[in-house]
Amino acid sequence: MNKDIEHVKVLIIGSGPAGYTAAIYAARAGLNPVLYTGAQPGGQLTITTDVENYPGYPDGVMGPEMMEDFRKQAERFGTEVRYGLITQVDFSQMPHKVTVDDSVELIADTVIISTGASAKWLGLESESRLNGRGVSACAVCDGFFFRGQEVAIVGGGDTACEEASYLSNICKKVYMIVRRDELRASQIMQKRVLSNPKIEVLWNHETVQVLGDDEVTGVALKNNLTGEHKELSVGAFFVAIGHEPNTEVFKQFIDMDENGYIQTKPGSTKTNIPGVFACGDAQDNVYRQAVTAAGTGCMAALDAERFLAEQELA
Ligand code: NDP
Repeated sequence: MNKDIEHVKVLIIGSGPAGYTAAIYAARAGLNPVLYTGAQPGGQLTITTDVENYPGYPDGVMGPEMMEDFRKQAERFGTEVRYGLITQVDFSQMPHKVTVDDSVELIADTVIISTGASAKWLGLESESRLNGRGVSACAVCDGFFFRGQEVAIVGGGDTACEEASYLSNICKKVYMIVRRDELRASQIMQKRVLSNPKIEVLWNHETVQVLGDDEVTGVALKNNLTGEHKELSVGAFFVAIGHEPNTEVFKQFIDMDENGYIQTKPGSTKTNIPGVFACGDAQDNVYRQAVTAAGTGCMAALDAERFLAEQELA
């Protein structure tokens, strides 16, 4: 083995709530974790504004500020946080090998994957300009700010249906913009949406533009069949066209479902590779909350700690 290669006990990949929580636990267990932040330090919460559903912040907190708190807490106990992207892994033998930024190699006794997922966006200029100012990819996070208002949501899958139903409980009216003449969602979710008097489905419509200068004031739509244009006056525009787990780099070694979510052994964060654990949104397409990600991050650190003890590597 090349002596120049750095060898770490616990390598954490990703810097959202899952990664930093894993780091806090691993650091407090004296395992000197090294955490690579990935391309978006702080993860998805750095592109949201107020977070009001994370326990312990009674007055709410800004997403980026909360992730700063997570980072500081992880560093306080000795986590080494490094900026960099894992571009290659080799989990074919122990210890595991990873490459950072296509240049530096290091080996790790345990690896915690907490690379999260990224929301898919339509790709409109107005959508990114108004992101966080009425445009959101998380109704559960941001719907509350638009209670009592008319809002729109784009998408026709289970996520869009679930979020439209959620929004209908707090908003005056929900327009659901669907690009085809049918929903992709499961029958039960379709039924729930179609029988909800507060949800109006606009079939065969695509979004041309989100309207507003400083905040969302409406949305411009086009009917795909007739070519007809129309505008809706809404206070928020939710995008629910799917998420993509950031797991591509692990594909060769780690078992995943057909959408790229990592499969973990029930009741644990163990993957199919001994010593490699997964937590947070990279392995969860159901809950996707900061608090659930943090919970599984804790589990991953405890699983890694036990693994090291079993292997007598701790
Ligand atoms: P899906 O990929 O299932 O659905 C995406 C939806 O967005 C489709 O209706 C699709 O339309 C539409 N869409 C995609 N791109 C665009 C675009 N550019 N413009 C307009 N519309 C677009 O994603 P989900 O996030 O809904 O679900 C992901 C997985 O997670 C699924 O397997 C789902 O069942 C599961 N899930 C389960 C839940 C549960 O069990 N409670 C809750 C949430 C998700 P089209 O159909 O035309 O392609």
